[in-house]
Amino acid sequence: MDLSVNLKGKTAAITGSTSGIGLGIAHALAENGANIILNSFTNNDEDYELADEIAKTHNVNCTYIAADMSSGDDCRAWVEKAADIYGTIDILVNNAGIQHVAPIPEFPAQIYDKIIAINMNSAFHTTAAALPLMRTNGWGRIVNIASAHGLTASPFKVAYVAAKHGVLGMTKVTALECAGEGITANAICPGYVLTPLVEAQIPDTMKEYDMTREDVVKNILLSRQPSKEFATVEEIGGTVAFLCSEAANQITGTSISVDGGWTSL
Ligand code: NAD
Repeated sequence: MDLSVNLKGKTAAITGSTSGIGLGIAHALAENGANIILNSFTNNDEDYELADEIAKTHNVNCTYIAADMSSGDDCRAWVEKAADIYGTIDILVNNAGIQHVAPIPEFPAQIYDKIIAINMNSAFHTTAAALPLMRTNGWGRIVNIASAHGLTASPFKVAYVAAKHGVLGMTKVTALECAGEGITANAICPGYVLTPLVEAQIPDTMKEYDMTREDVVKNILLSRQPSKEFATVEEIGGTVAFLCSEAANQITGTSISVDGGWTSL
């Protein structure tokens, strides 16, 4: 068995991959030889330039395809467009996600619905569209980026915590439906990673707890991580690459925490 990670000739589609963790995953998979489909909901020159940069850096093919992951139809059309270009999708990483922080009575219902759609429902739609392609090849990897908040909770994050718990359930169902077909489905549960998503919630958290930025980072965010260190996008990318290796053939229907010990507390 080849225990190295060799993804040459495989196509990896990663939702929400122009920033933060998704971009880190794109680099990690491209570094191991995979062709990459990048995604966000925007249609800017920078999105296409980013795809060119990844292609050049890693000597692979990389294409940006815009799709709004809050729309089920867009999710499915995105998979179909990717398959039209590359023939198939071998690796699907459901990563797109947003956050909003507010107490339940004040949590805007529209934002609640949007978080559930992007953070959870999009994984259902992309998986439904990609699975038949993977089945044709007899090989596939589905990796859902959940969160430590898929295993535990924090106040003021009702939609996010509900969505991430749902993603873990969906991961198990996907794994059971594909068992024995060469297709695995797993989730990764990161602790705090200092990306734009985390940066954006610091001001609201400062308000909720009446704290300075420094105190929020130290006493709210990293207080949950016994390592007292943020996880990095490279570490999450490396974990996805491992799940795509042959060594992970029998790892399915489970989650890997990359959280500095948070969920051991
Ligand atoms: P980020 O804000 O840096 O990146 C999110 C990406 O999703 C961006 O590329 C953005 O353009 C894209 N996106 C947002 N809305 C979209 C939509 N409607 N359609 C398509 N793309 C959309 O965030 P991040 O921190 O890198 O988070 C990535 C994933 O990791 C999320 O699912 C998040 O919940 C999860 N996560 C993050 C952390 C953390 O600490 N940063 C911890 C645990 C889990």
